Amino acid sequence: MPFIIVDPCIGVKDESCVAVCPVDCIITTDTDPFMLINPDECIECGACMPECPVNAIYSEDDVPADQKEWIGINRDYANMDKAAFYAKHGKTIEAAKEKNRNSAHVNPALY
Ligand code: SF4
Ligand code: SF4
Repeated sequence: MPFIIVDPCIGVKDESCVAVCPVDCIITTDTDPFMLINPDECIECGACMPECPVNAIYSEDDVPADQKEWIGINRDYANMDKAAFYAKHGKTIEAAKEKNRNSAHVNPALY
């Protein structure tokens, strides 16, 4: 099962996970306030998980019940164009970003 990034990353995006991924499957753009994982390229090595300061990375099997939506969000981010992705998931992304606004690890530059 691939690894999945869930909502505590939104607005944090410190990129600690990116530095250790051996296949560069943790993706973003310059403007998006998060990283997500391309599940079709993830080799399930688990190296990224302990690097995350906000515990936002899980094996797909272990994603908490209230975060299951993020399995599809990671997959869609890797496979959809940006406009279609935001049309489908923009409200969820914005809600997560607002929820994390006061996180100890938040990056104010992303707000
Ligand atoms: S589990 Fe390994 S391959 Fe998959 S995203 Fe994490 S570091 Fe990359
Ligand atoms: S280490 Fe965690 S917070 Fe940082 S970019 Fe990766 S998933 Fe997001």
